[in-house]
Amino acid sequence: MKIAFIGLGVMGYPMAGHLSTSGHEVCVYNRTNAKAERWLQTHKGTSKATPAAAALDADIVFTCVGNDSDLNQVTLGPDGVIKTMKEGAILVDHTTASADIERALSSTLALSGIGFIDAPVSGGQLGAEKGQLTIMCGGNEDHFEVAKPVMDCYGKQVTLMGECGAGQLTKMVNQICIAGLIQSLAEGVQFATKAGLNVEQVFDVIGKGAAQSWQMDNRHKTMIEDRFDHGFAVDWMRKDLAICLEEARRNESSLPVAALVDQFYSEVQRMGGGRWDTSSLLKRLLLR
Ligand code: NAP
Repeated sequence: MKIAFIGLGVMGYPMAGHLSTSGHEVCVYNRTNAKAERWLQTHKGTSKATPAAAALDADIVFTCVGNDSDLNQVTLGPDGVIKTMKEGAILVDHTTASADIERALSSTLALSGIGFIDAPVSGGQLGAEKGQLTIMCGGNEDHFEVAKPVMDCYGKQVTLMGECGAGQLTKMVNQICIAGLIQSLAEGVQFATKAGLNVEQVFDVIGKGAAQSWQMDNRHKTMIEDRFDHGFAVDWMRKDLAICLEEARRNESSLPVAALVDQFYSEVQRMGGGRWDTSSLLKRLLLR
């Protein structure tokens, strides 16, 4: 297929790479052109100077940018993909964004006969590099059937969750579950340290029991080593929790733990940790 990929960040760069390796004809766009040039040195494909130029003639356009406002810019902005996308093409958005912007974007694109899938991802940088992402999709079944085999190039689990917006709502559940879990893990590491236990041994043992989680498996070692310069940034998590809390106000669900952890992350940001991994919640505990 002819594919355009907009946004070669931590996630988009390897995802676009998998598409190229799988034999698709890939044209990339990145705001900072140096990243697109670096991508072209190791991957087969082309690059263009604007999202609109990259999307010209593409069967599927993928976007993976930071937030709602970035997404708006690369899709509906002066050089946005909507300017050139052809009728019958599909836009697949991998940004973690609000369900509202996805629904609005889907309606606007539909006026030009363009399909849309919201498709936020989970699995982090490593998942993107290994092509092992979990992808939560919202949209119409016909568009999903076309886009799914392409997303399979970097997804181990690609699932249609419902109508447009359902992908983002599912990702919100993911972030709500993770927030409290990381705080609990940080409290456990702190408690084990203060109790004078062999902390590494504690997590090797309880990681084989009922407390096991992805966060415990993948983060306890780096937390013990006080290493946070990797992974999923606190700034991104606060952006995601803000989306969750706003949606919760609308659907009247109660998220006291997510709201509290969001405030803990604001403390981490004030400590200079906006780009630290989310497991850095431990940093504010050990200071006390
Ligand atoms: P990132 O490394 O910061 O990359 C963001 C990308 O968006 C860059 O290519 C950036 O271009 C581009 N961009 C931002 N604003 C733009 C604008 N206004 N116009 C054009 N391009 C713009 O972020 P990431 O880690 O890849 O994350 C991307 C999305 O995936 C986010 O929504 C994030 O929440 C989500 N996500 C991330 C992870 C993770 O572990 N990193 C996991 C799951 C989901 P420049 O290169 O010019 O800055």
